Amino acid sequence: MSSNASNSVFIHGPELDVGGYPESCPFNTRRAGMTRRKAMSMGLLGEDAGREVSPVRATRAQLETFHSPEYLDAIKAAETGILPLSSFEMGIGTPDCPVFAGMSNYFSLACGGSLTAAGLLLAGSARVAFNPSGGFHHAGRSNAAGFCFLNDIVLATLLMTSARKRVCILDIDAHHSDGVQAAFYDRRDVMTISLHESGTTLFPGTGFENETGTGEGTGFSVNVPLPAGTYDEAYLLAFNDLVRPLIAAYSPDVLIMQLGMDSLAGDPLAHLRLTNNVYADIIEYVMTLKTPILATGGGGYHVENTVRGWTMVWSILCGSAKDSREVGMGGVMLENTDWAGGLRDRTLPVDERERNAIMMETKSVIARVRSSIFPYHCL
Ligand SMILES: [Zn+2]
Repeated sequence: MSSNASNSVFIHGPELDVGGYPESCPFNTRRAGMTRRKAMSMGLLGEDAGREVSPVRATRAQLETFHSPEYLDAIKAAETGILPLSSFEMGIGTPDCPVFAGMSNYFSLACGGSLTAAGLLLAGSARVAFNPSGGFHHAGRSNAAGFCFLNDIVLATLLMTSARKRVCILDIDAHHSDGVQAAFYDRRDVMTISLHESGTTLFPGTGFENETGTGEGTGFSVNVPLPAGTYDEAYLLAFNDLVRPLIAAYSPDVLIMQLGMDSLAGDPLAHLRLTNNVYADIIEYVMTLKTPILATGGGGYHVENTVRGWTMVWSILCGSAKDSREVGMGGVMLENTDWAGGLRDRTLPVDERERNAIMMETKSVIARVRSSIFPYHCL
C-alpha cells in the first residue's frame, strides 16, 4: 500500500503543551508541540498532508491493563505531596522521575495518544499514526524509570494483541527498551527488537544479545547492543542484516516504532553518532511494508536536533517528503540550528581508526544475534 496523506495521523492536542517535566529535567515535554508547529509551518499538516487528531485521555481501566493499582495510586498520591518510602522504591520522585503538578493528567494524555493511535489503526481509519508525546519504554508494571511513568508502548501493544494482532515493536532509541521487553518476554505474539547503545556504557545497563526471551517467547526478544560512537554505516549494516530479515520472517500485523532521537550525534545523554539520515532510511523502508505503523517519540535531549528529526520522520510518514533522498543539505549538527537547508543532517565524517574498530565490533554483534535468534525464525 502506498502512503497516502489522509491515511497518516499526527496525534497532538493543546493540553499536551501545558504541564510536563520541570525545566531542570532533561526530558523536554515541549518537543512534541515544537514538532507540530514545525510540521504545520512546512505544510506537513492539513488538507494536503497528514491530519491531526487529539489524544483521548487513557482511562484508569486502560492503564490497569498493564500497571498495578498500587502503583497508579502512588503516582496520584505523589502529586499531592504524599511520597512514602514505598513510592520512592517504585521509582517515583527519583532524580530521573521527578514529581510535578498535573503529572497523572499529563501522562494519561500522552499515553492516551498512543492508545488513540492504536484505535485508529485497528479501526482501519489510519494506516500510519505518529504520537511524538509517546515512547515511555522504560516504565514497568509497578515502577517508574528513566523519565518514564506510564508505558504507552506496552498499553498500545496490549490493545493490539487483545484484538489478536501480532505486533513487532522496533525501538531505535539510544537506550535499551527494557520496560517493553520485560512486559512481553514470555510471549511470541509480540516480537521486540531494540537497537541501542550497549548497556556497558549506557543506562539502563541491559539489552545484551543473550536476552532472547523465555518459554514460548524465546527468540522473540531481539537485542542489538552497539558500541559508543556507532555511525550511520555501521548502524545500517546491523539494521539491514538483522532487522529486515526478522520483520520479513515474523510478518507482523502491526509495527510499533519507538523513535527516540537520542541516537543522534551530539545528544548530551548518549554516545551514538548517527545522523538523521539513518532514521529517514529506516522510515522509508518500513513505509514499503504493507503493515500499519504506530510511531512514537521517546528520548532526544538535544531539543533542536530532536524536533528536526521528528519533523523529517513525519514528512516521510505522511507521504509528503520532497527530495528526501537529498543528503548534505540540512542544518549543521550540534550547535547551528539554521534549518534553511532542509530537515536532513549533513553526513558526518568518522575518524578512520574509530571507523574500523566500530565496524569490527558491530559485525561481531551481528554474528552473535544471528546465531542466537535466527534459528527460531528459520533464517
Ligand atoms: Zn533514550
